[in-house]
Amino acid sequence: MADIVIDRVVKEFGSFRALQEVSLTVNDGEFVALLGPSGCGKTTLLRIIAGLETQTAGRVIIGGQDVSNLAPRKRGLAMVFQNYAVFPHMTVFENVAFGLRMQKAPQAEVKRKVERAVALLHIESYLDRYPAKLSGGQRQRVAVARALAAEPAVLLMDEPLSNLDALLRLEMRTELKAVLREAGTTTIYVTHDQTEAMGLADRIAVMYGGKIDQIGSPLEIYATPATRFVGGFIGSPPMNFIKVQCSQGTAKIGDAVLPCPTTAQTLELGLRGEDAALSANGSGIPFDVRVVEPMGSHLLLTGSIDGQLARIVAPPTAKVDAGARVGLTVDPARVTWIDSTTGCAVA
Ligand code: ATP
Repeated sequence: MADIVIDRVVKEFGSFRALQEVSLTVNDGEFVALLGPSGCGKTTLLRIIAGLETQTAGRVIIGGQDVSNLAPRKRGLAMVFQNYAVFPHMTVFENVAFGLRMQKAPQAEVKRKVERAVALLHIESYLDRYPAKLSGGQRQRVAVARALAAEPAVLLMDEPLSNLDALLRLEMRTELKAVLREAGTTTIYVTHDQTEAMGLADRIAVMYGGKIDQIGSPLEIYATPATRFVGGFIGSPPMNFIKVQCSQGTAKIGDAVLPCPTTAQTLELGLRGEDAALSANGSGIPFDVRVVEPMGSHLLLTGSIDGQLARIVAPPTAKVDAGARVGLTVDPARVTWIDSTTGCAVA
């Protein structure tokens, strides 16, 4: 079993608390993405799991063993970090073979596994080259191939595809997902790219300010964000937040009436741009359109609801002009209510 338990991990750099009692369990064979904006503590958490950084408090348990004080190489894991450290004095083949050589794998097995990994990462034509003669993206793929070839039980990755162009990145993402699933590798993957996290992960831990705001499947965090931050960070365009008055369990916006929770005093209506539909007769929530952007698959409408910024997604052929006022209908089951004071969702 290669499950990972992160138990109340705290990290302080001097007086700055970079991680605040972070707890997280990653199941054997599961793929968890750590997603969040720059500086939220993703890399610090990954480095603590790897043993490259010492936690101020808390424990890291891998496969039932407390590894909190073990050196990185004794933790039984492979890692690929942003700076994709490959060995400059070794060819691509030898770099990719490195882990297998350490395991003292027979030559035929080394060859077979290296060939498979390099084919997956499309670097088979560079086998005899030294890293100095490779581009940043190619070197990054060598680092990923090296980690995969050794078939580790636990794999830690920090933005491993960051140096690749968009198309290659998409292709590598798909390959990575397939191969890790097939191998049953327990993976923790740091990214600030929500599309990458959504595409790859079984569960996503959304981090903010040294804490995990929410952990759940991609669909859960998209459909039912636990906080305003998660709603605004996940999804494109980001969730809209409209301050509304809620009275006796209903909120009235224009001629739309929505049931709302009455527990909070000041409420924000969290509305996904793709969950609003243009009404045929202009009834519903009044939306003042300021800019219309044709995106091909849809129209992105930017404007305001009750004077507050909102972005709405409309069908590509919808007839909407900048400057117009249109009406929106929404399904009450698909909105999120946020307590303005706490920033947390209320049911
Ligand atoms: P990014 O996506 O930009 O890499 P991140 O979420 O991975 O960001 P971390 O690198 O984990 O963020 O950093 C978390 C916080 O801890 C940041 O505010 C950072 O400035 C701080 N920090 C990280 N390493 C150190 C260090 N060695 N000394 C002092 N502060 C540090």
